[in-house]
Amino acid sequence: MTPDLPQTVWAAMRRGFTGKCPRCGGARLFARFLKPVDRCPLCAQDWTLHAADDFPPYVAIIITGHVMAPVMIVLGSATAIPMWVTVVIAVTLAVVMLMNLLQPAKGAIIALQWWMGMAGFAPRPGKVEAGVE
Ligand SMILES: [Zn+2]
Repeated sequence: MTPDLPQTVWAAMRRGFTGKCPRCGGARLFARFLKPVDRCPLCAQDWTLHAADDFPPYVAIIITGHVMAPVMIVLGSATAIPMWVTVVIAVTLAVVMLMNLLQPAKGAIIALQWWMGMAGFAPRPGKVEAGVE
């Protein structure tokens, strides 16, 4: 079967973000919460080659922090809400958002590494290398 290869890096990252195989888009990328499948059952892409490391949590924390900052300002300026309620709401929202962003962030980073031929991934067929005729 010829895989339905993505046409752009954004299409590949969108597939990874939604938990689909970035190469073919037809199978799940993750076997468990943050553990990618060893090999795609449809297109046979080896996903053990990625080296996402701690970049996905970094991305998830950056996004969560930027979304939560205005929420915390609004909650903090609402004088009718007791401080302990504000803290419970803010911490709960931050943890829920962070946990829901971790897998999508990791999928997108794995897709980016695959697209760019980074870590153990081979350069994509047909991709022109810079400086190579
Ligand atoms: Zn696949």
